[in-house]
Amino acid sequence: MKNIPLISFDLDGTLVEPTYVNLVWERGIPELYAQKNHITLEQATARVMSEYERVGDGSLIWYDIKYWFDFFDLRGDWKGLLEEHRKEIRLFPEVKDVLEELKEDFELIVTSNAAREFVEMEIKETGISPYFSRIFSATSDFGQVKKIPQFYKKICEIMGVSPSQMIHVGDHYEFDFLVPKELGMKACYLDRNGTKPKDGFTIKNLKGFVHLLKEFREKDNMIL
Ligand SMILES: [Mg+2]
Repeated sequence: MKNIPLISFDLDGTLVEPTYVNLVWERGIPELYAQKNHITLEQATARVMSEYERVGDGSLIWYDIKYWFDFFDLRGDWKGLLEEHRKEIRLFPEVKDVLEELKEDFELIVTSNAAREFVEMEIKETGISPYFSRIFSATSDFGQVKKIPQFYKKICEIMGVSPSQMIHVGDHYEFDFLVPKELGMKACYLDRNGTKPKDGFTIKNLKGFVHLLKEFREKDNMIL
């Protein structure tokens, strides 16, 4: 077991603004579909969205851009589409400072739900890869569509830590907060839009997360 505590970050909505991913799925693919079928963007968007819905995010293929290129028989390739919008990839403003501060005392990893193609593009474009010792994709690395307990268990095993040595932070209430907590990990819920009542584990941005870590240290004398 390692002595240094591990912090696990969700990626989309936590480190990286959701603009890019939304653009690719909700704008880029409908545009290609409209061009190919000579229909309006509005019609194409409606058709594409209804197909996404039909498959649903409980299915692995929902996350698989290669599948959708084949399914809609789109011209060009998915890599081109990811490239085309890469300038829209942006970190939330506080992220660099927070990573810079935390890297001194913690080992940092990324645990994302997104497919590896997206994760890699986002990490590369933002230049944050040197902060992280590992970057995991639930869908691509483990064939799991959600960050379920087995996902976090597997991460702990691979990283050689017990759940109590790992702290996870992310913006999905169930998969980034309730699930890791259930496993005995410390978890913080990142509620950037303030949708949930505030409690001792809810933060509005990652600066708040750094404060919370300091509080944990004082209160519990935990691992930190
Ligand atoms: Mg997220």
